[in-house]
Amino acid sequence: MNKKVLIIYTGGTIGMKRSDSGFAPTKGYLAEAISHIPDLSSPSMPEWDLFEMDPLLDSSDMTVKEWNLIGRKIYENYHLYDGFVILHGTDTMAYTASALSFMLKGLDKPVIITGSQIPLSEIRSDGRDNLITSLLIAGEGVVREVALYFSGKLLRGNRATKMSADDLVAFASPNFPPLAEVGITVKYNYAVIRRGGDEALSFVPLSEIPIGVIKVFPGIQFSLFESIMTDKLSGIVLETFGAGNIPGGGGKLIPIIKKAFASGSIIVVCSQCPGGTVTLGAYKTSSSLKEAGAVSGKDMTTEAAVAKLYYLFSLGLSGDEIKSYMEKNLRGEMSE
Ligand code: ASP
Repeated sequence: MNKKVLIIYTGGTIGMKRSDSGFAPTKGYLAEAISHIPDLSSPSMPEWDLFEMDPLLDSSDMTVKEWNLIGRKIYENYHLYDGFVILHGTDTMAYTASALSFMLKGLDKPVIITGSQIPLSEIRSDGRDNLITSLLIAGEGVVREVALYFSGKLLRGNRATKMSADDLVAFASPNFPPLAEVGITVKYNYAVIRRGGDEALSFVPLSEIPIGVIKVFPGIQFSLFESIMTDKLSGIVLETFGAGNIPGGGGKLIPIIKKAFASGSIIVVCSQCPGGTVTLGAYKTSSSLKEAGAVSGKDMTTEAAVAKLYYLFSLGLSGDEIKSYMEKNLRGEMSE
């Protein structure tokens, strides 16, 4: 029997049309554009249905609300389809991929998120190949997790990050090998593909938790961030230098982290470097972070750390539980 895939179009460049104020998503346009791609009705393709979200968004406007809508749509249609393709803007694609990987617990079918740098409405669009290949991969069912397909590479969704605003090879997963490389054939990297368990799929909607990302820089005045870190934010991703280093050995930051932790905030230390891992205590400049109660994001991307904080807080866990899960691998988002 032919495989069936549900395409969920959320917005983004792939289905955008030129307007007086720049490219913008247009209702009904994607359906019209893909009806002119004969390959999509080839017998070698899975059967597919298209669902268009309303409103269509530039992905910079995505919020927890839209993540929940996409996640719920997959959950409610899970038994009807063999796989799912999410068409999404590239700007926040890695965040949505990460969020879906946490929200869809027990996922055992492909959820492939893709988009394009050049709209389908323009010549030289990369959207055509990204869509066709994603559909084939979603129908094939080898990868049973949330993955991001772009320009010949299938990446684990919660390991991916947008690397370029204009290259067609826009995404990479510096800390994890591709799940597949696509040339003349699709070469799956079976050794790293996650295997689904016996657990049934469950869907955990995310709550609008106050989360913040603070990137340290030379000369940062930590005192300016004190009130938001201690009173306003529940989860904070601290993007530090290198392996987890902060200016001044954290002298000014440590009392703030202690106060934030005492008031229920969780501070996760990630690196500004796309590749490599945070090792708290490797240098004197990071030891104090650990002592103050910050947790190590190890080799997680900031996108995955943000999504994981939303997820763990949405489960209603205690501060200590959230701290401990932040340092554990839940969906392949960090190396053990
Ligand atoms: N701004 C667009 C978006 O993220 C960019 C893209 O799709 O490539 O929706």
